[in-house]
Amino acid sequence: MNVDSVDRPAKAILHADLDAFYASVEQRDNPALRGKPVIVGGGVVLASSYEARQKGVKTAMGGSEARRLCPEAIVVEPRMSVYSQASKEVFAIFEDVSPLVEGISIDEAFIDVTGLWRLVGPAPAIAQSIRRKVREEVGLPISIGVATTKFLAKVASVSAKPDGLWVVPEGGELDYLHPLPVRRLWGVGAITEEKLASRGLMTVGDIAGVSPEQLSGWVGKASAHHLSALAHNRDPRRVVVGKRRSSVGAQRSLGTRRPIGRLEADNVVLELVDRVTDRLRKGERVGRTVTIRLRFNDFSRATRSRTLPQATGATEPVLRTCRDLLEEVWPEVKERGLTLLGMSISNLDDAHAVQLSLPFARRSRDDADTAIDSIREKFGRDAISPVTLLGKRGIEMPMLPDDIPARSG
Ligand SMILES: [Mg+2]
Repeated sequence: MNVDSVDRPAKAILHADLDAFYASVEQRDNPALRGKPVIVGGGVVLASSYEARQKGVKTAMGGSEARRLCPEAIVVEPRMSVYSQASKEVFAIFEDVSPLVEGISIDEAFIDVTGLWRLVGPAPAIAQSIRRKVREEVGLPISIGVATTKFLAKVASVSAKPDGLWVVPEGGELDYLHPLPVRRLWGVGAITEEKLASRGLMTVGDIAGVSPEQLSGWVGKASAHHLSALAHNRDPRRVVVGKRRSSVGAQRSLGTRRPIGRLEADNVVLELVDRVTDRLRKGERVGRTVTIRLRFNDFSRATRSRTLPQATGATEPVLRTCRDLLEEVWPEVKERGLTLLGMSISNLDDAHAVQLSLPFARRSRDDADTAIDSIREKFGRDAISPVTLLGKRGIEMPMLPDDIPARSG
């Protein structure tokens, strides 16, 4: 045991995977589908609810076979734009937690939270809070596996399903992995499984017990190398932040249906803008289009957006725009109640591309943001925020006290 590891834990990687994604969105939006077998897609099955899976329905199965297995299933047409919006909202939650998010598909991502344990907490607590937020803010079930490698986190999220959390503790990797059937190893399909079974290799532990040389005689050199590595949980791949996203956003569920006051709504906007512009600046990006997103008591939604004359990553212009938009929509909020408030910035560009064209007057506010950012870098996110700077006054613009150091280096 390395003494150092007490201070610096091994990698902490989450694999987050929405459960029966399209089918869950349909069940979310139509209460009549909840608890029932649901198949998305009239031709080939694009997704199916767990109730339909229990009858043997599988993704990519032909529609007629699926209906034969589960005649009582309710078949719905896919609504891709709704799924894509839900996916964006879920990814915004991931990215609010860690900058290291690697999207694998519309409903699946790796999230590296190694660096967060000191400031935010241990990985299992972070995973639970993501699950709670996805449930509360997007209304969907998500399973998360937590482990020290990407590969194992993905194996663990399968163990977590449905709607669960599975943590493989550091040091306990092989205890978890070795009893699993070989099929659970990434890259093992029916054919390889059969080849391995014919040699008496049924579990991952069986594979770990034979040499790669011996194994390569049975499944080929490349496969053997790969399987051996996985069976010993050797997976050095890092979480790679994928293609840059086209928008950055955050949202907050307001929970109870009690009427929300203007001041309270304003403070939520302030907090969201602070989070989003902080992320923009960390990614060295700027954006032009500001959107606020609202969900009313009856679950209907509305958005309002405005495009700024100049791309920015600064807090103030974005906050001002959000407040204007909120003002516009406020009569509706008063009438219909508010259960969720979100905001995002799109039309993104690299910060360097526009820095030179920023008017000089704009710089002082940018310096204020820079000061906040550098304090956070040293002392953590909660060390300072416009909200705490505001005290209880809430609705006025955040003003920085003079004694906050400017750029630290
Ligand atoms: Mg999934």
